[in-house]
Amino acid sequence: MDRQGIIIAIDGPVASGKSTTAREVARRLGYLYIDSGAMYRAVALRALRLGVDLTDEEAVSAVASEAGIYFSEKEGRLRILLDGEDVTEAIRTPEVAEASSHVAAIPEVREALILRQHEMGQAGGVVMDGRDIGTVVFPDAELKVYLTASPEARARRRHAELRTKGIESPLPETERQIRERDARDLQTQTLQSGGLYAKDAVVIDTTRLSIQEQVNTILSLALDRGARTSGPSRG
Ligand code: C5P
Repeated sequence: MDRQGIIIAIDGPVASGKSTTAREVARRLGYLYIDSGAMYRAVALRALRLGVDLTDEEAVSAVASEAGIYFSEKEGRLRILLDGEDVTEAIRTPEVAEASSHVAAIPEVREALILRQHEMGQAGGVVMDGRDIGTVVFPDAELKVYLTASPEARARRRHAELRTKGIESPLPETERQIRERDARDLQTQTLQSGGLYAKDAVVIDTTRLSIQEQVNTILSLALDRGARTSGPSRG
């Protein structure tokens, strides 16, 4: 196959710094960045808007299979479109975050999204982040990374991030929400994705690392595994 570069899978729990790190790694390599979590969030937003009962697996699966989910780029930023509407900001609320881990536990929802993620990334030259990218979506990825950090550090990061978006929530509440979503995601990953990370994943504890240090560590691993910084830009 005429590959456009390697596949880099970055998995990790809530607020482990995956998205920021993955986006920057992709930018530095001229690779495509795909935020798989945004797709679960888009399905959750669609279900919430339609008033669908999140425990009704059949109804939520229909919401997922009928959802028009696309990525596009505007002024260098990844945007996510749901049925033609830009929902990049709308999917970032704590309500959608919680709902996303409920819809992600439904096997038919995962099946539909995993298929699309695979299609989007199989040409290579891609950095995809999520929970099951190295275990299920791209078990043959040239580089698999698992980012982790203490729940306290992750709560502080998410709290600060929400604040910049004008969403005020007490820190203990943010930490409670993170622990709750972690527990649900862990169950989904154990039952449906064969665990937290692949045996050949590189585990990086980011509790004491800056984003720049995380990016540099992953970039040097990527170069070792065959990525080229001068590769063709996939925007
Ligand atoms: O990464 P993010 O927090 O945006 O993901 C939202 C939710 O989507 C997660 O809590 C998880 O339940 C689900 N998810 C998943 N598999 C992925 C990415 C996200 O189950 N590959």
